[in-house]
Amino acid sequence: MIFKEKVTLITGASQGIGEAIAEEFGRAGATVVLVDIQKGKLDQVASRLAGMGIRAIAYEADVTKSSQVTEVTEEAIKSQGRIDHLINNAGITRDSLLLRMKEEDWDSVVGVNLKGSFNFTRAVLKHMFSARYGRIVNISSVVGLMGNFGQSNYAASKAGLIGFSKSVAREVATRGITVNCVAPGYIGTSMTEKLSQDVQKAFLEIIPMRRFGLPVEVARVVKFLCSEDAAYITGQVINVNGGMYM
Ligand code: NAP
Repeated sequence: MIFKEKVTLITGASQGIGEAIAEEFGRAGATVVLVDIQKGKLDQVASRLAGMGIRAIAYEADVTKSSQVTEVTEEAIKSQGRIDHLINNAGITRDSLLLRMKEEDWDSVVGVNLKGSFNFTRAVLKHMFSARYGRIVNISSVVGLMGNFGQSNYAASKAGLIGFSKSVAREVATRGITVNCVAPGYIGTSMTEKLSQDVQKAFLEIIPMRRFGLPVEVARVVKFLCSEDAAYITGQVINVNGGMYM
């Protein structure tokens, strides 16, 4: 129970990697504050976790809306008294070649993936500052490091998240707060299930381990970064990609 009495806020927590992070932290004793855009899905996850004996609270919020982010953060602090870990995980794709990319596809991807993380980090940091303790993990992507055909908006947002994390890490390091990124490769979730069989096959060929990752394999690395074993790690990007990018 390494996270007994800790509170972890996870965005995009109602499925995929976010849900796996919530379960992993809950199993380690944390109270998990689940944030996502659709309350219905969130409530189902919260009751599934509660059935496992995990303390889970669900808040509906759009990470791109700073007023909703502030409201959720304040409510969570009021009810739980603290937020020890913030996991900025909510993310979307709107793939297209750059020449055909609509302005709204650029804005929505950068809005959720990058501004959403800015909104939550700014809101939660205030509390971590006074507590002189905190762990922030931002979920970037292998695509932010190597680029990807048809994903210039997504790659820019995920690369931006790395620069953002390193900058904030420098600003808060003396306050007992660490900020790191996890960059997953190809993980089996609804985000990747949308890709055609051909694209999935092409990905498998460039993954030395010849398999896709599991959400829990990302969640365990996030857990490590929030543990005391990672107390001296900040401003880093940890790749979880089966060797796809080295
Ligand atoms: P996912 O299954 O699509 O889950 C993302 C969650 O974020 C969904 O529940 C989604 O809700 C929610 N969300 C979307 N927009 C939101 C908003 N504005 N406010 C609040 N929540 C919002 O994705 P995933 O595969 O688990 O990915 C999780 C993170 O890992 C993302 O940041 C993704 O970019 C990153 N990542 C994933 C992979 C991979 O292979 N899967 C690889 C590298 C990085 P709705 O579905 O209701 O819109």
